[in-house]
Amino acid sequence: RAKDMGKNTFAFHSQEMIAQVFERGRMEGCLHTAVAQSQFVLHYQPQFVLAGEEFHGVEALIRWQHPELGMVPPGSFIPLAEETGIIEIIGEWAIREACRQMRTWLDEGIDVRCIAVNLSPRQFRRGHLLDIVCSALDESGLEGERLELEITENALMENPENASAVLAELREMGVRIAIDDFGSGYSSLSYLKQFPLDTLKIDRSFISPLPEDGDMAAIVEAIVEMATKLRLTVVAEGVENSTQSSYLRHIGCTVAQGYHYSKPLAADLLPKSVRQVLDMGSAL
Ligand code: C2E
Ligand code: MG
Ligand code: MG
Ligand code: MG
Repeated sequence: RAKDMGKNTFAFHSQEMIAQVFERGRMEGCLHTAVAQSQFVLHYQPQFVLAGEEFHGVEALIRWQHPELGMVPPGSFIPLAEETGIIEIIGEWAIREACRQMRTWLDEGIDVRCIAVNLSPRQFRRGHLLDIVCSALDESGLEGERLELEITENALMENPENASAVLAELREMGVRIAIDDFGSGYSSLSYLKQFPLDTLKIDRSFISPLPEDGDMAAIVEAIVEMATKLRLTVVAEGVENSTQSSYLRHIGCTVAQGYHYSKPLAADLLPKSVRQVLDMGSAL
């Protein structure tokens, strides 16, 4: 409890400070400086296979190391970056950096199996996404199967024709596609059949009320069953306790990610944390 409050207090102060430091209009310039001075960093949150008590992979999550503010969370700058278009530069950096880090881990003999990178709708809309992904894989000598791109259902449905074409080409490269925050957007389910998808990530807002909330449990069970029948990997986001993890394993959810296992970590801390979680075994 005390730990939770500390976290929230920090987030609150940090939001306040962010608002003060960036008076109206200043943040955009700061984002350009941040790009020029390489102030972005990726943290990595491990994902675990529930049934096998195995490591599944990591999700790369961006942070901004601001010289005065410290770590600024993505929620505080991604929306503006998206609005102004800077996200295309930041997002390209994130894809290259994630691939570079994966290569480093592999060279060190650490088998981080798959790395997931978040895509903004704007990146997805642009034609040269495929070139960026292709060259990032090339430079790091990674097989496409090592990379998963996370995209929201809204971004897909914005322009389904373009989405189909882009996803088909990514699939050609072996790159995996995950639907992020599944269930939180508004869209029809028919797209699940229409697009070449690999993974559904159930939004944290569905997982938090589990297992006490019976209606939500019914929804999550239905999502897991549907995804399984469609041969999709199902990832539960935001798993915060062992009751949720046992419940999710019980209903056949494939993979879990959340503070119960680990927070997103700097690259050098990841291997140790993964080992600790796997050593806990049954706690998974
Ligand atoms: P997301 O992709 O849905 O990522 C999950 C968020 O939930 C992350 O927040 C993660 O730290 C947080 N989280 C993970 N486990 C738990 C848990 O057990 N409890 C709680 N309360 N939270 C948990 P974060 O890192 O602040 O990222 C927020 C969002 O920012 C991400 O949501 C994603 O949409 C976006 N984002 C992050 N990195 C990038 C990026 O490189 N590019 C783009 N376009 N968006 C990014
Ligand atoms: Mg994500
Ligand atoms: Mg998500
Ligand atoms: Mg999210």
